[in-house]
Amino acid sequence: MKLFQALQKDGFEFKSGVLSAKHFLEGSGYPVSDCLNLDGRLAGQWVRHLCAEKVQQWGPAHLAVVLASSDPASRIYVNHKIKAFKEAGMSSSLIEVPPDMVSESRLHELICQLNDDPNVHGILVQLPLADGVSQTRIIEAIRPDKDVDGFASQNVGLLHQGRLEHALLPCTPAGIIVLLGLYGIPLAGKHAVVVGRSGIVGRPMSGLLLHEDATVTVAHSKTSRLKDVCRDADVLVVAAGRQGLVTREYVKPGAVVVDVGMHRLPDGQLIGDVTPDVAEGASFLTPVPGGVGPMTIAMLLLNTLRAAHLRQQGR
Ligand code: NAP
Repeated sequence: MKLFQALQKDGFEFKSGVLSAKHFLEGSGYPVSDCLNLDGRLAGQWVRHLCAEKVQQWGPAHLAVVLASSDPASRIYVNHKIKAFKEAGMSSSLIEVPPDMVSESRLHELICQLNDDPNVHGILVQLPLADGVSQTRIIEAIRPDKDVDGFASQNVGLLHQGRLEHALLPCTPAGIIVLLGLYGIPLAGKHAVVVGRSGIVGRPMSGLLLHEDATVTVAHSKTSRLKDVCRDADVLVVAAGRQGLVTREYVKPGAVVVDVGMHRLPDGQLIGDVTPDVAEGASFLTPVPGGVGPMTIAMLLLNTLRAAHLRQQGR
């Protein structure tokens, strides 16, 4: 895999298919006997363990998280990230800007300070930001080599140029490629359909799949005959943010389905964009929760470590 090759150049030993055998041996909790869960908790643990080993060898990697909203979900995500850093022996700091004191100039000034701080290797601004603050301007203010979310234009450009070894890649799509790779799911020559074209998930996902030599179709809210488009996919990645959008009828028998959607129901349950009956036809499916989410956090650790290591080497 191209992504694995790029990461291997930086000293991360990724091997295709390492989880398959373990998965089959341990076999637990598959939705039905012929559809296998792509277990993001297991794969995420694998990546986190690798990061924990590397930080011992390479020295410190520090993430600065900027939280500038009162959104309760944002606080939960930030807490998960900080906990994961601690568990891997990596450090992080949380910089909270009280919502009534948030302004674009204040955030910009804060980012500049973090850019200049040699002890900070990665900067993450938790999105969304308050109304009236330009998300784009704040993200663009982050130094590209500290942009561990991979959202700023230099990293976006490198991804789409295929220069993966020089780019910090967005955590969710990169995590999906790593998940598929660890399970040994082939992508070259396959038809991959991505539902959604956001800058955070859909677009970078399509770019990364293209680098893996998949033939990629990107669908969005104006796509006609969405069901037919999806039904032609060998690999279907659904990132529409629409609960229950993709049902069994949208999935070709034997397809690999990745559900990126996250929706919190009133009873607290977390569900995705894909309905459970998809498991009746798919060969592999990411569960929600426990699929894509844990990979996103694991890749944030990896990006921060990679940012620190690249800087140490003067690359
Ligand atoms: P977004 O910015 O709202 O983008 C949604 C995309 O889906 C848009 O491109 C939109 O098309 C398309 N879309 C919406 N309704 C559609 C429909 N009926 N048919 C086809 N396409 C449709 O969302 P996002 O940030 O990419 O996130 C997508 C989902 O993933 C959300 O549920 C989010 O919570 C989840 N997510 C999960 C993780 C994780 O770690 N698990 C990380 C990030 C996001 P248009 O461009 O035409 O509007």
